[in-house]
Amino acid sequence: MSEFRLGDVIDDHCIKCRRITNHSIVSIVTAKPAKVRCRTCYHDHDFRNGEAPPSKKDLKKAELFKQVLASAVPAAAVPEVITEAEPEASEKPKKAKARGKKA
Ligand SMILES: [Zn+2]
Repeated sequence: MSEFRLGDVIDDHCIKCRRITNHSIVSIVTAKPAKVRCRTCYHDHDFRNGEAPPSKKDLKKAELFKQVLASAVPAAAVPEVITEAEPEASEKPKKAKARGKKA
């Protein structure tokens, strides 16, 4: 069992430094680091398991990608979907069975 203690040095991604740096644990929640402080620039932030948060650039890329997908998919998928409607073959002429059976 690895127990974290306040002041322990762990690796995490610092937004200010924009890279993995040494961090000191500032606070702990449920036996896990909650807040850490970058030992390079002394910036406090939530512990994020060493993962870089998605940058604005990445978010924009994802957005663009979605737009491209949205505009590309309908054009490719439509031809199979729209077929001629069948001339109402499902409508049966005999529907008057319940007639005349009033209690
Ligand atoms: Zn930093």
